Amino acid sequence: MIMVSSCLLGFDCKYNGENNENEQVLQLFERMQLIPVCPESLAELPTPRPPAEIQGGDGSDVLAGEAKVVDKQNRDLTSEFIEGAYQALQQARANGANLAILKARSPSCANKQIYAGKFNGELKEGLGVTAALFEKNGIQVYSEEEINEVLKKI
Ligand code: SF4
Repeated sequence: MIMVSSCLLGFDCKYNGENNENEQVLQLFERMQLIPVCPESLAELPTPRPPAEIQGGDGSDVLAGEAKVVDKQNRDLTSEFIEGAYQALQQARANGANLAILKARSPSCANKQIYAGKFNGELKEGLGVTAALFEKNGIQVYSEEEINEVLKKI
């Protein structure tokens, strides 16, 4: 079983009410069962919603209580992002997933780079909150930009 960011499968759960449908990810459906997951929706954040970024570190630091998630209106959404991550982990465990394909550069889902917390498009190295929790719990996280890596594993 592979957990997949819902927005990559065409669900309109992205912050702006749209999706990030990805043809390569959809094609994986022909080979195996994919479980859609959107941590921000699981935390009952509305869609559309203002964009959010991590300030003071990355998702691992958020889980450690050393960084926070804020939206563009400067509202602190740290607890919501942590809640969404734990709910996503619960779903992954319930489905026996040990692999995930999550959306690149998202403050929840990113596995390599996130926006730097300045809302100016700047990027920094780091994980999103859910990706960090998944990796901490033995679920390998890839992005939609690394499908070829995933194909080697299945
Ligand atoms: S939280 Fe993840 S699954 Fe949900 S919209 Fe953002 S990138 Fe997509």
